[in-house]
Amino acid sequence: MCYDVSIIGAGVIGAMTARELAKYELKTVLVEATNDVAMGASKANSGIVHGGFDAKPGSLKARFNVKGCEMMPQVCRDLSVPYKNNGSLVVAFSEEEMETVKELYDRGITNGVPALSILDKAQLKALEPNLSDDVFGALLSESAGIVCPYELTIASTENAVSNGVEFVRNFKVDGISFDNGVFTLTSADGDTIKTKYVINAAGAHSDEISRLIGDESVELIMRRGEYFILDKAVGNLVSRTIFQCPTKMGKGILVSPTVDGNLLIGPTAEDVDVKDDTSTTSEGLKTIKTFSVKSCPTVSARNAITSFSGLRAHPVNNDFIIGPSKINPQFIQAAGIESPGLTSAPAVAEYIAEILVNAIGNVPENKNFNGIRKDVFRFRHATDEEKSAAIAENPAYGRIICRCESITEGEIIDAIKAPAGARDVDGVKRRTRAGMGRCQGGFCGSKVVEILARELGCSINDITKFGKGSNILFERTK
Ligand SMILES: Cc1cc2nc3c(=O)[nH]c(=O)nc-3n(C[C@H](O)[C@H](O)[C@H](O)COP(=O)(O)OP(=O)(O)OC[C@H]3O[C@@H](n4cnc5c(N)ncnc54)[C@H](O)[C@@H]3O)c2cc1C
Repeated sequence: MCYDVSIIGAGVIGAMTARELAKYELKTVLVEATNDVAMGASKANSGIVHGGFDAKPGSLKARFNVKGCEMMPQVCRDLSVPYKNNGSLVVAFSEEEMETVKELYDRGITNGVPALSILDKAQLKALEPNLSDDVFGALLSESAGIVCPYELTIASTENAVSNGVEFVRNFKVDGISFDNGVFTLTSADGDTIKTKYVINAAGAHSDEISRLIGDESVELIMRRGEYFILDKAVGNLVSRTIFQCPTKMGKGILVSPTVDGNLLIGPTAEDVDVKDDTSTTSEGLKTIKTFSVKSCPTVSARNAITSFSGLRAHPVNNDFIIGPSKINPQFIQAAGIESPGLTSAPAVAEYIAEILVNAIGNVPENKNFNGIRKDVFRFRHATDEEKSAAIAENPAYGRIICRCESITEGEIIDAIKAPAGARDVDGVKRRTRAGMGRCQGGFCGSKVVEILARELGCSINDITKFGKGSNILFERTK
């Protein structure tokens, strides 16, 4: 069996591209090294749908950011993914920084960003009363929003799989050969996949994947960003995403509500040598505290329920690397997709699909494609009537497993049974929020392990936190 297209990497770029390709009569496979989708940058970022004023005019970042921001609300509606058009502010703390705000405004206009305006101090404080009294003014971007990044990746994969794309987990590509117009991808375990086209969407590892075909053009620097997530009790301290003025290392420390009602503060920006090192550091967390109170003096890390970090795959040329490789035109790069990659994902996916369909030629459309993902039942958001109806239909919706987030057994079973469903505890957590609350899984963790084992028909000893080597239980103690 030979696939038409293999996508390496099930982050938001690979997943959304898989969904775009499902619109065509193509045999497509989405290949992921780990046990689940969204295990790289797509699970650990700010979740901001950027307006598009930050990127250099004429760059791929600018083009796809603006288009992706425009596409995101409809994509999220179609895929039943939490999204909010809350707007963003870049806040200035001096006359000099107001000059930066004006530059960002001009750049935004050049990039085609709608609904931008410059606010003075009084207008700004009227919108966000909890901001510091030291503010001078700000750039308001009304088209910006917030989204749940891993839910977007999960939902795109589910929808792609429902429309005929195959999803293969635990296949870490570590060899690629090319013979007679066909690639052979070899996994670390020695399994193989044959394919006519390859899309390299391997995030932080896209440089290594590129080198497997002898293409050295993808040069990346790993840039770690650390965060605190604060309790929902302070989730509405600000309504909009609050940025400070950007530096050469990025957009700086933000304070933002999340779509789930928490407050997010971070990220730092530190270049690191080790790929996949998503540890947090006391230095990094201290930096977040210092800079977040500058925007919002009442923000306190004492409300933190957890911290985490993500790795930006920063391309040395500072722009996305998208298009056919110069070494082999059947190998399409989707590499170096750092911020605003989440925002850009719907537009990047559409563009990559267009490149492929043009390259293959005469590809019929998939007439059965259905881009609408079945509504996800979220008990915590349901009305009393909806809850009663759901419980009457399936009593598992009446058993609360995660008390902090009000997540029911029925929702956990749905997450396991979904196309490309959860296979480990973190997979359940990302799909349902069981374990995302104040106790961080202290109460529900063991119950989730039992449900996973029961639904997957395996021993509880086989259930992992996040795939191979992360087993939770080993032996009975009594
Ligand atoms: C700290 C931080 C903050 C950010 N904030 C924002 C934001 O607010 N807004 C925004 O628009 N963007 C933001 N971004 C950028 C955004 O997160 C990324 O652009 C996006 O997630 C990249 O998606 P991806 O699919 O390219 O990579 P990833 O999500 O990293 O996915 C790559 C996948 O490839 C898999 N893989 C790797 N090697 C192999 C292999 N050999 N074989 C098979 N599979 C493999 C990985 O396991 C992973 O699942 C942020 C990024 C970071 C790190």
